[in-house]
Amino acid sequence: MHLTETAEDKAFRAEVRRFFVKDYPQDILRKVRNGQILTRDDHRRSQVALQSRGWFAVTWPKEYGGPGWTPRQRYIFDEELEIANAPGVIPMGVIYIGPLICEYGTAWQKETWLPATLNSEIFWAQGYSEPESGSDLASLRTKGERDGDDYVITGRKTWTSQAHWADWIFCLVRTSQEARKQDGISVICLPMDSPGVSVEPIVGIDGSHYLNSVVLDQVRVPRRNLIGEEGKGWGLAKFILGNERLSYAHISRKREDLKILKARARDVLNGRGSNAPLPEDFAAKIASYEIELDHLEISVFRVLTGSIEGPLATSRLKIEATENAQKLTELFVELSGYDGLPAYDRRQDDWSDDIREEARFAQPSVASYLFTRAQTIYGGTTEVQKDIIAKAVC
Ligand SMILES: Cc1cc2nc3c(=O)[nH]c(=O)nc-3n(C[C@H](O)[C@H](O)[C@H](O)COP(=O)(O)OP(=O)(O)OC[C@H]3O[C@@H](n4cnc5c(N)ncnc54)[C@H](O)[C@@H]3O)c2cc1C
Repeated sequence: MHLTETAEDKAFRAEVRRFFVKDYPQDILRKVRNGQILTRDDHRRSQVALQSRGWFAVTWPKEYGGPGWTPRQRYIFDEELEIANAPGVIPMGVIYIGPLICEYGTAWQKETWLPATLNSEIFWAQGYSEPESGSDLASLRTKGERDGDDYVITGRKTWTSQAHWADWIFCLVRTSQEARKQDGISVICLPMDSPGVSVEPIVGIDGSHYLNSVVLDQVRVPRRNLIGEEGKGWGLAKFILGNERLSYAHISRKREDLKILKARARDVLNGRGSNAPLPEDFAAKIASYEIELDHLEISVFRVLTGSIEGPLATSRLKIEATENAQKLTELFVELSGYDGLPAYDRRQDDWSDDIREEARFAQPSVASYLFTRAQTIYGGTTEVQKDIIAKAVC
């Protein structure tokens, strides 16, 4: 399924495809294909390669380094990136905080953070959630007290993705106590090497170290690191969450995975080399999944063309995209059978070179199944998205 493409669209698609074949680090594509975990440096090299063409900050306004693409070009680019097996960009800098700085940052903030983010000289983390404040984010307690020209920040952030790689973190901080809990929250950025910041790793159920707790113990931060107005950060936090919830569809990656699944199903269920149709029950599961994927793609087109917008777009798409991702990983696990059982370390750089073919399929399948459980939690849980939709339509 495709939007009708003009000759210019086709030329653009060919240019992007050529780039991934000729000018992009091929070792990174290989690792993604194997289901291996990328290092920080792999991500940096990937982002630098994209930026060499001006294709990294695709949602930023042109004046700050965005490519000035139409929504259709962005869609084609995402498709080609996923078809090539290139990793998605780490979103915290370029997708979450970058556009916020472009829109609300001071001249100093734009000068300090935008070029460094664009060139992958700095990586960011998102300090929203706290141990007692996840879905009910506005109840957060990390405190920022004014002391001369500084804030002194104390609290604990948790589930902080890739904080161990980050140079900066943007935090939601309570700078005053107000009657309404959404008031009195500010967005403040701080360097991760500030005295008083410590990072504690959390290892996930897939065996990877992706998450962390970030402890802030009287961290002194200059007032110029406050984005927007003091105490008015809740609106900015929602601006970021809106961009976050739109970024989950990954249609082409799912279609590429589906090709792998079908090929594997033929080998496992029919015997290698057989052209016989798949057994009916598994074929029906694949067909049912594919129909849902087509539906998801239509939903994406509706958002891209502006026929749905607001929470009905962001929250609905988030639910549909993440549940769809989970279903696909379930089919992969079903095909893995007993080979999915052994524990292994996905962090090893070369694990896939010397293991049996069955395990090479099963191990990343299971890891991906486990990690994908988180998709209906992060960025706002499914239940909470349903609440948002209910409030928008009632
Ligand atoms: C892999 C991963 C990466 C993450 N990365 C980051 C990050 O980089 N930065 C960051 O700040 N946070 C991050 N998070 C945290 C994430 O945003 C929170 O986990 C999420 O908001 C849910 O909060 P919670 O975990 O405290 O669960 P809770 O809010 O305690 O929810 C527990 C359960 O109760 C349900 N529930 C809660 N409230 C309601 C309600 N009003 N109505 C109906 N049901 C409700 C939820 O749906 C859920 O099932 C990440 C989480 C994961 C899993």
